[in-house]
Amino acid sequence: MAKAAVAAGPYAERRGRTRDLLVRYPFAREVLDFYGALLGVQEQAHEEARLARPGARDLVAYVAEMVVPAVVDVSMAAGPLKLREALASRLETTDPRDLVAAWVQGKEQVMVDRYLARAALGPVLEALGSEAAASCIGVRDRRHCPSCGGPPQLSYFAIPDEDLAAGGRFLLCARCDSAWGYARMTCPGCGEDSSSLLPIFSEEGTSSGERGSVVRGLQGRLEGYSDAERKAVFPHIRIEACDKCRHYLLNVDLAADPAAVPVVDELSALPLDLCARERGFSKITPNLMGF
Ligand SMILES: [Zn+2]
Ligand SMILES: [Zn+2]
Repeated sequence: MAKAAVAAGPYAERRGRTRDLLVRYPFAREVLDFYGALLGVQEQAHEEARLARPGARDLVAYVAEMVVPAVVDVSMAAGPLKLREALASRLETTDPRDLVAAWVQGKEQVMVDRYLARAALGPVLEALGSEAAASCIGVRDRRHCPSCGGPPQLSYFAIPDEDLAAGGRFLLCARCDSAWGYARMTCPGCGEDSSSLLPIFSEEGTSSGERGSVVRGLQGRLEGYSDAERKAVFPHIRIEACDKCRHYLLNVDLAADPAAVPVVDELSALPLDLCARERGFSKITPNLMGF
């Protein structure tokens, strides 16, 4: 029975979705293959932390000693060349505890530091819950995670029947994976709520319920999609941008694809990130893979 409980856990769900999206999105193969390998390490770290239950004061040392080495190993074995090179040179000069501590403290970090800290800390925070999350530094307001003060990675619309908030919008924390409710048509970066300043970009062929600008010709830019394939590549994902702070994030609509696992689907949507960047927007928080 314990096995069944584990199989239905968040990591099994992420692994399953990663496998599905590998078939659906061949252009995202490099990212998804690597993420799939990393998930194995994260799942083990999650299980071990659940049993070891390090206290909040030992969190940074625990993650640096018990999780960082395995994340480094899998990254050196399965990561992209650029990441492998950056990791090798960074680890010669840096104590992993400093990297993890900087992420816990919400400090600015170069991409490789942030990747390593985030990949290693995430599963431990998920396993330990509120007390560990409460020890993280960050603003607790509507635009940040109420548990750990982390920034939002993405936004999603829940399946209406599943939630009393009836199709409510949620933001997902980049640091501890908690979700919290957030008003629709309000920028998660700056709180702007004037709809004229909040452009939405969704693909041609999607039935976005709210007003939206169209991302045209996405298929033509992706290998493996012919002109004959008129259906949207990401029917359930759209870009939600803000002309005031010039930030954006991706929104995953679970009603449009109930099998979606937002954290995995967001990683696969690189072409939408490129579209947003071409329009001069930057993501509120780059995802685990740096996009
Ligand atoms: Zn959080
Ligand atoms: Zn904004």
